Amino acid sequence: MSESKPAMRPGELLFEAPRRGKPPRHLMDLSPEQRRAAFAELGLPAFRADQVSRHWLGRLSDDPDSWTDLPSEMRQQVAKMFLPELLNPVRVVDCDGGTTVKSVWRLHDGALVESVLMRYPERVTMCISSQAGCGMNCPFCATGQAGLTRNLSTAEIVEQVLAGSRSLDRGQIAGGPGRVSNVVFMGMGEPMANYGAVVESVRRLISPAPSGLGLSARGITVSTVGLVPRMKDLATEGLPVTLALSLHAPDDELRNTLVPVNTRWPVAEVLNAAWEYADRTHRRISIEYALIRDINDQAWRAELLADLLVGHLVHVNLIPLNPTPGSIWTASRPADEETFVRILRDRGLAVTVRGTRGREIDGACGQLAAATT
Ligand code: SAH
Repeated sequence: MSESKPAMRPGELLFEAPRRGKPPRHLMDLSPEQRRAAFAELGLPAFRADQVSRHWLGRLSDDPDSWTDLPSEMRQQVAKMFLPELLNPVRVVDCDGGTTVKSVWRLHDGALVESVLMRYPERVTMCISSQAGCGMNCPFCATGQAGLTRNLSTAEIVEQVLAGSRSLDRGQIAGGPGRVSNVVFMGMGEPMANYGAVVESVRRLISPAPSGLGLSARGITVSTVGLVPRMKDLATEGLPVTLALSLHAPDDELRNTLVPVNTRWPVAEVLNAAWEYADRTHRRISIEYALIRDINDQAWRAELLADLLVGHLVHVNLIPLNPTPGSIWTASRPADEETFVRILRDRGLAVTVRGTRGREIDGACGQLAAATT
């Protein structure tokens, strides 16, 4: 495998992804207008671009040979010019009776990324990656330990969702044919450090078929460690997606160690940016808080967290820590978790404790670490 370990010193944060060969251009990198223009450059009429989009996004068909409304040479030309295979499946593992499926993908340059499909009775959520690796260095997260390899392109992000959509559409996922309803940018990577491609991919996911996949923006969650300038930018995009903020500690002293980027944008600043996002988009902020035994799960920290959050448009998502290999940390004791939840609820906050789907297949939160396997 050509995968090389990124060079990062301990404690270093990487905001700029290392430069590597760009993935080949793909239909999903292009907006509908750009698709028409790119087709025109090849001497193909604009309606052909729409036709191809209808197959790719509307019908979820990735087999150009079956697109019989296009002349056969044109199908081949389009496939060659616009539909390179970006995600090569390396491994697919499932659990929960086939309703949780993790895919490991090899990209054109050998980099590996993972995505997870989770089917629930009332929804299907895809957890996708925005970068190969991550430069944010959070010590409890497996992806963080592996460092940053590179940013994903728009198409590499969108194709993760499309791959899941196709499997569901074809009835290949336990539970029969279905559709993706939710997408969470909670796989590998820091979405706000790959801002342009992430925002474009969101546009592709929410624009109505056949220009996009036609998902509801309300079903999309972008999760961030708290890159304040990018959070402010996202608030102005007119994309009503849910913003999740990985807080994990209410005090700077602890957050500096759990989420090292806190040394640049501390708790007060990052929460202000979150409230600004909520004001502008009227979307409830999701506060992510991994409960780590005896580290951040004390009753006094729950009180402090409540002090910061009460009165805001917010929801707290507690995540029992998924220990990563070699980690000295583990999940909170059940009694401590209960106390933490009760303190927040007594203060009137909406709180959920996230399930640990995918744990057995290393597909749960913070376990995605393909680059190290
Ligand atoms: N970089 C983004 C998105 C990826 S991680 C972010 O940090 O928000 C998605 C969520 O999983 C984040 O809240 C992250 O802090 C959390 N997470 C990471 N490692 C974890 C672990 N070992 N156990 C539980 N949650 C974890």
